[in-house]
Amino acid sequence: MSDIIRLTAAELAAELRAGSISSVEATRAHLDRIAAVDGDVHAFLHVSDAALEVAAGIDARRAAGEELGELAGVPLAIKDVLVTTDMPSTSGSRILEGFMSPYDATVVARARAAGLVPLGKTNMDEFAMGSSTEHSAYGPTRNPWDLDRIPGGSGGGSAAAVAAFEAPIALGSDTGGSIRQPAHVTGTVGVKPTYGGVSRYGSIALASSLDQVGPVSRTVLDSALLHDVIGGHDPHDSTSLAQEWPSFAAAAREGARGDVLAGLRVGVIRELADIGFQPGVSASFRASLAAMEAQGAEIVDISAPHFEYGVAAYYLILPAEASSNLAKFDSVRFGMRLDVPGGTVEDVMSVTRDAGFGDEVKRRIILGTYALSAGYYDAYYGSAQKVRTLIQRDFDEAFAAVDVIATPSAPTTAFRLGEQIDNPLQMYLNDVTTIPVNLAGVPGISIPSGLSDDDGLPVGIQFVAPAREDARLYRVGAALEALLVDSWGGPLLDRAPILGGAR
Ligand code: GLN
Repeated sequence: MSDIIRLTAAELAAELRAGSISSVEATRAHLDRIAAVDGDVHAFLHVSDAALEVAAGIDARRAAGEELGELAGVPLAIKDVLVTTDMPSTSGSRILEGFMSPYDATVVARARAAGLVPLGKTNMDEFAMGSSTEHSAYGPTRNPWDLDRIPGGSGGGSAAAVAAFEAPIALGSDTGGSIRQPAHVTGTVGVKPTYGGVSRYGSIALASSLDQVGPVSRTVLDSALLHDVIGGHDPHDSTSLAQEWPSFAAAAREGARGDVLAGLRVGVIRELADIGFQPGVSASFRASLAAMEAQGAEIVDISAPHFEYGVAAYYLILPAEASSNLAKFDSVRFGMRLDVPGGTVEDVMSVTRDAGFGDEVKRRIILGTYALSAGYYDAYYGSAQKVRTLIQRDFDEAFAAVDVIATPSAPTTAFRLGEQIDNPLQMYLNDVTTIPVNLAGVPGISIPSGLSDDDGLPVGIQFVAPAREDARLYRVGAALEALLVDSWGGPLLDRAPILGGAR
């Protein structure tokens, strides 16, 4: 295996700037890695045939002395929920098989403008509904730590690509946990930015009031660098915040230098103790808290009494918004259209949607349509929105007393493929600690906290900050990461079997 793929994006960027590695070499190393392992991992739905050419263009501009962005020449994997002009965009669905977008998502356009090299599109649960990628119409992705296990979802492809060293960094989207839960089960870093902090333009909508695009990486600094590229106001997204953001990379670098933990107030939610985390997940969480406490952080017991209703409220709000967002796949405007000889347009629509959508998508469309129907709207959708407000208030009260909230990023380590697919409720509960963060619109990060002592699989710790305080997450995340990597004697992923390590 080439040493190039072992580099973080920040390290690779430094080599590119110094001229010791070219973007073509870096891109080829990752394409070779994809060719070598993606038959097993299946992180990618599509690999770009333009990547080497794009890389050569960056090398030529650098050679000509052009001032390039910090990540110029670094390869990037892109979740297939984001539309791209030069590669198909399917959102993991049969109904969009082969769909070519006439425009790039804003985050993709910004990544290209910054000189990042798109490697390909990554696998995901259909329309980002799921926690395992098993709902992808194109077959599941597998966890690089154990190929019999799930890589999380919906963005399992981006997380697995980064964990398997097929890409140094990737883009994901997070509606209820789809960046953070895959990070948790693959030993990687994932960030859900403040709602409105990153443009949703060109992100195929699941639930518009919850969706956020964000970075996926192996280190906190790499996520921060990518967030700096993709974030900021976009006039194409009416919910985009019109404000200046600080440099997240500067925040991560400050955190890694130490002493940001002294005096930091870290809230731990009392009610989450009853959730029934896997013992190894709880133990890893407590060990991370203890490591922070040893550096002077203060662990504060806080209450968030409405957290436990988050999943229930989410599974009314999300299907309601999704059923409306997915109405545009009508066999006329986008993607698949099946023939019904002599049939009406309704017949064509119904046959196409039946064949084009998978079971989980149909389940949520039915649920959402029902929840929004006249007579039930107040009872279901209206009540769920009230619960959402109560959860937002829980966060507001908590942040009056603490600087960040910490939770385990998910209740268990990676489960086996097939284990939860027939039990939607169990699948939904994987997001019990991440969903409230989307409902409140606040930012969250998941970073590796260690390996579970009961099964040796990765565990993540989530930090949550008040809205617009994403920089705080990078500062704290980088500080804990530096402590933990030091205590492990090297990055967690060095121990992943896919690198020949023994976990
Ligand atoms: N697993 C959650 C769901 O199925 C979250 C999905 C997401 O964040 N896109 O809805």
